[in-house]
Amino acid sequence: MNSAKKIKKNTVSFSKDSVNLFFHILTQCNLSCTHCYINKKQHGTKTLSFATIKSWLQLFSSKEKKQNIIFLGGEPTLHPDLAKAVETAKALGYNSVTVDTNGYLFNDFLAKTSPDTLDYLSFSLDGASKETNDMIRGKGCYDNCIKGIKKAVKKGFCTSLIYTVSSLNIDELEKMGPLLNDLGINRFFIQVLGIRGESAKENTKTGEKILQVQKSRWLDIIPETAKNIASSGISVTYPKVYLNEGETFECAGNVAENYFVFPNGRVYRCPLCEDFPMHSMAIKRNSLVQTGNINEKHLFGLNIPEGCVMNRLIQPENLAYKKDGTPEYKIACCMLKEEIS
Ligand code: SF4
Ligand code: SF4
Repeated sequence: MNSAKKIKKNTVSFSKDSVNLFFHILTQCNLSCTHCYINKKQHGTKTLSFATIKSWLQLFSSKEKKQNIIFLGGEPTLHPDLAKAVETAKALGYNSVTVDTNGYLFNDFLAKTSPDTLDYLSFSLDGASKETNDMIRGKGCYDNCIKGIKKAVKKGFCTSLIYTVSSLNIDELEKMGPLLNDLGINRFFIQVLGIRGESAKENTKTGEKILQVQKSRWLDIIPETAKNIASSGISVTYPKVYLNEGETFECAGNVAENYFVFPNGRVYRCPLCEDFPMHSMAIKRNSLVQTGNINEKHLFGLNIPEGCVMNRLIQPENLAYKKDGTPEYKIACCMLKEEIS
């Protein structure tokens, strides 16, 4: 039987009738990954109390639209009340509840929640081998993450794995297929390394941002590898990054409802803006308020031939121009994904 026939690939268009809440309940973490996007200067150092988590969850809960929530950190399982927060989100009617973890699963988290309450438990691994993963995420991380995944799968949780592609690990991506199958992972998310947080810092020796993958390498490797992995029955999602000629550019800030909430009360609509005080909203005294001055919202409406304005501003090295000065291609919104199932 030719399994390739069953593969379905589609670009996931921005949903107009659902809301995605990316809720960072603390910024503390036990690891210090080379590409960590948490920027404590911009996102604060607070751990939110359970009472605050509950009232912020209420603030974003809506009866009109489907709500999806992803609990993030730092490492969210370091929060002693994470299981209670998951339960509260479900009780408030959130459609799907996900926890993103580095796999250490602190505070006996799995014993305090259940597959009936938590829809997805998402692990992060950045290498198919211990050497590569631990070079990026820290010593001992691979073994702990694998241990956490096995425990979660055994308990019946629906699991995902996130792999952030950089020049350090792109060559190991194809080896992830067998590993995902061995572990019993349901969904695989390939992420592109964003130039924010730690990745935005220059290599002190060379002055270069060395981790980013060039366009040709990305296009040579990612779509094909994603397809191969999907052919074994795992759902694979990866960012579109480069738009093909004739494809329409859309900024999620204009057409979708994504909220990136941080413990200092900042609320961003665009993840690429998170390194700057450009948030368009903030939570003040338990109310969601618009911020004044120039902020991310003012960028969303700018129509430039390069596509994403933030990409043009913070990672112009992703662009290339023809002799007449027009861009060779458009950069898609970082929230636009390809899904193969
Ligand atoms: S990337 Fe995640 S696991 Fe790694 S240091 Fe940052 S918050 Fe922690
Ligand atoms: S990544 Fe670019 S296109 Fe997407 S929301 Fe941000 S500014 Fe808009």
